[in-house]
Formats: sequence, structure tokens, C-alpha cells
Amino acid sequence: MSSSFTVENAVDPLQPTPVPVEPVSKPIPLPVPNSTQSFWLDPEANPLAKAGSTGPLTSDVDICIIGSGITGVSAAYHLTRLLAERGAVSEVPNAQPLKIVILEARDFCECTITTPGRNGGHLTPVYFQFFTEYVAAHGTEDAVRAIALEQYVASSIVDLLHSTGQADAVDLVAGGRVYLLVSEDQEARAKADYEAAKAAGVDVSAVRFLGKEEVLETYGAPYPALWTPGHNLWPLKVVTHLYNLARQTASDSATSSLALHTNTPVTSITPIWTLSTPRGAIAASYILHATNAYASYLLPHLHGPTGIIPTRGQVLAVRTDMSTKAAFADYDGSEYGFPRPVQPQDGSQPLVIVGGARQSAGPGYEMYEADDSGMNPRFFPERCNASTSPDDVREWSGIMGFTDEYDVFVGPVIDPSQPEAHKGQYICAGYSGHGMTRAYGCAEAIAQKMVADLTAKEWDVPEWLPRHHITDRRKSSN
Ligand SMILES: Cc1cc2nc3c(=O)[nH]c(=O)nc-3n(C[C@H](O)[C@H](O)[C@H](O)COP(=O)(O)OP(=O)(O)OC[C@H]3O[C@@H](n4cnc5c(N)ncnc54)[C@H](O)[C@@H]3O)c2cc1C
Repeated sequence: MSSSFTVENAVDPLQPTPVPVEPVSKPIPLPVPNSTQSFWLDPEANPLAKAGSTGPLTSDVDICIIGSGITGVSAAYHLTRLLAERGAVSEVPNAQPLKIVILEARDFCECTITTPGRNGGHLTPVYFQFFTEYVAAHGTEDAVRAIALEQYVASSIVDLLHSTGQADAVDLVAGGRVYLLVSEDQEARAKADYEAAKAAGVDVSAVRFLGKEEVLETYGAPYPALWTPGHNLWPLKVVTHLYNLARQTASDSATSSLALHTNTPVTSITPIWTLSTPRGAIAASYILHATNAYASYLLPHLHGPTGIIPTRGQVLAVRTDMSTKAAFADYDGSEYGFPRPVQPQDGSQPLVIVGGARQSAGPGYEMYEADDSGMNPRFFPERCNASTSPDDVREWSGIMGFTDEYDVFVGPVIDPSQPEAHKGQYICAGYSGHGMTRAYGCAEAIAQKMVADLTAKEWDVPEWLPRHHITDRRKSSN
């Protein structure tokens, strides 16, 4: 039975505003072992799923990366590349390659955090959206940088996939994204943001505003819209590719070595620095926390509203006859969807991935919910109507890491109550549900910072990194 899902019925123009909730006092757990199964986690698509989960554990390392999501693996990719470009870190002749290990609580890239395994697969950078709000919060220079970061990440990943011949393998589709302007308020804000960004020198020439008739005819939705360039892809395959490239670079350059241990959660860290896992302990000189929503498990000072708040999100894949390649969302990005590019072999209808819609979760928006073994029962009925067969739908949840300013923690770990206590530890986390177009770049910035510190050099902060992301420049106390 086919679905009667349409672009129009996926978007609810009457979005309630998120209600801030009080932090719950219970600490954040490790990623739960029995998570819901993501469409993207097809076992054949994850050859590294159990890598390094048995056998001897790597012992003393120079750098331990905690988390094998897009951040942890991108950091490994950039670290190996930077070390290879720089040559040996030590001046000592015949110095050993720098030992890097990635520790992952679940299967490779599977957590919630495993969200590239679990998220919706957009790679669509912002062009001007929310510019005026961003300027009000962080000033014009950082608002321009926030756009530059996303443009840099999207173009870098697309270029890398093309230059290494992987575009088809990761289902890269350049369909762009249609933002439906579902209310007069959204239309007015979109136009104001566009004009403000243009006046600040942002290149908005690729953006097109579409009239209501054109949108109805082309996409079946009765709203005006704007279109921006963008891609969708299979995130887990991209992360796997980055890991393989990192391994290759490490082995070719002989300046570093890279190991991966999945199903190896880090349960505690003691000075300086021993990481405990159920499989044994690992000594490390430097640690990178790439644990996103789960950061406060190992860094309790990040628990609460000025830290990183785990927040459950949900996605469904539904069979439908939607024929456009474009992704769609409303201007606030609170609901989105895009068609899968692969035509099913069995003649069934293609899948559309639908996500966002956190209003389905009720007033608390599932903030402080770190358990993705369950789902919100309201999500499916509210996105599909009575004629949609549950057989045509696959649903899963995942945990996002929200911050008070929707920005990312990038830099040394700083606990304001004991500023020197984490020396040698770094963090890159807190994407607030928007990591695909930021993680690769933030991981590059943190890799640069770590290489600068271990070679006693100044960190040349990339121009595209918003300065308020940097941990010692954040406005809030953490
Ligand atoms: C349902 C959903 C839909 C989303 N859709 C989009 C989207 O369309 N576009 C977009 O840009 N973003 C989206 N996101 C957000 C995006 O997926 C994240 O921003 C991104 O995955 C963050 O990557 P990461 O590597 O930092 O974290 P994660 O992918 O969460 O990886 C962190 C890893 O750390 C591991 N870990 C945690 N604690 C420990 C520990 N103590 N020891 C060892 N390992 C540990 C976890 O198991 C996990 O694998 C979505 C998220 C969800 C949940």
C-alpha cells in the first residue's frame, strides 16, 4: 500500500515555540546499548561496525579521540593529514609515529550519537538564514563566519568526495533545498535576513525566491519558498570514507598511526591521563572529547543549561511517490524531508526521509532525554495520514547535543571552577541538531589547535571559525 505523504502534510505552519525546561538532576548516561535501528545503519553499509571490539586494546597513546561520529573521525582525518604535511612532530631523529586511537562506546559511528548513522543526511549549508538573529547575539563578524564555516564544510566534503571518486558510493545528490515560507512572519524574516546578509557582504547570488504558484506546481505545497543549493548523502558512508583516508595517510606518511576500538566505552578519566574502559585502561597524553550529547558523562561541569543538553530527535523513512530531488524544510528548519536517490530494486516506491518536528514530542521537546532505545509515539501519526501503512515506514530516534546559544564548544576543556584541571583535554561538541555542515570544519579547527599545542606553536585560528565557539571565548560560563 502506498503512502499519501506529501510535502504539504509534512509541514505544520503552527509550530509552537520550544518551551525551556529545567535541567533534570540525574547525570547523563553512557549511550544505551539497545538503540532503535536507523535506516542508514544497514549492516552492509557499516564494514567498520565492530572494528577493534575484540582482541588486545591499544595501550599507551599520544592522542585518544573519544567518539567515532563525524567529529571524532574528521578530527582523526585532519590530525593525520596535518601531521603528514608537517613531517615528524619530534626533532628527535627516528622518532616514533604519533599514536592516535579512537574509542567508541557502540558500533562505529552508530551512536546517537551515532547520529551520522542516525541523522537525516542533509549537507545543506546556510546562505543567510537567521542572519539578523545571529548578528544580535554574536555580532556581524561572527554571523558572517557562521555562514563561512558551513559553506567551507559543505564544499570541502563535496570536493573531497568527487576528488576521491566516492560521490556515487555515498549517494551524493545535488538537489538543493526548498525552504517553505509557511507564514507571513517566516516570509518577512527570510527577506530581512537575506537583505541584511547581502548588505554585510555575504554572497547570496545562488539563492532564489519562489512564488506560491511555482512552488505549488513544482513541489505541491501552497506556500512561497526560497531555494538554496545543497546536497543530501549517506552520512555513515562519508564517515567510513574519512576513516579509511585517515588510516591511509597515517600509514603512507609514517608520521602517525591510527587505531579504532568500537564497543569500548570510556567510563572515567583520571590524571594524567588514564582512560578506563570495561576492556582495560589506556594512557594518553592528549584527549579529544567528540561525544556530542554525551559530553557531560565524562565532563560533569557540562551538565545543565550552560553546557550540552542531550535532546532526543526522531526521523522516519516513508515510501511515497514524491519525485523531486530537492530537500524541503520550513524556514525555521523545524520540519524537513528529502527523497532517497536510490530506486528500489523491487519496484516499490522510493523512500522519503522526514525529520525535525520536535513539537510532536510535547512541551519539553525531549530535552535531557538521552535514551534512544525508544521513540515518541506521536511522530508517525502526525507526519502521515490514516492511509499510510506502517509497513511503508521505518522510524528511529537519536540524541542531539544542544547548547544555550546553538553553537559548538571548540577548544581546550575548561571547567570554570578549576580552569587548569583538564590540561591536555579538548572538546568539539554541541551542534544543536545541526552538525553535518559544521562538524568537519570544527574538527579541523580542533585538530589544528592540538597540533599547535603539541608542537608548542601558536594556533592560527581559521578565519571561518566563529570566535564565540572557542571554549575560552564563550559568553556563558562553561
Ligand atoms: C534524529 C536526528 C536527526 C538529525 N538530522 C540532522 C540533519 O539532517 N542535518 C544535520 O546537520 N544534523 C542533523 N542531526 C545532528 C547531527 O547528526 C549531529 O550534529 C552530528 O552527528 C554530531 O556528530 P558528532 O560526531 O559530534 O556526534 P555523534 O555522531 O553523536 O558521535 C558521538 C560518538 O561518541 C560516542 N560516545 C559517547 N560517549 C562515549 C564514551 N563515554 N565512550 C566512548 N564513546 C562515546 C557515541 O557512541 C557516538 O558514536 C541530527 C541528529 C539526530 C539525532
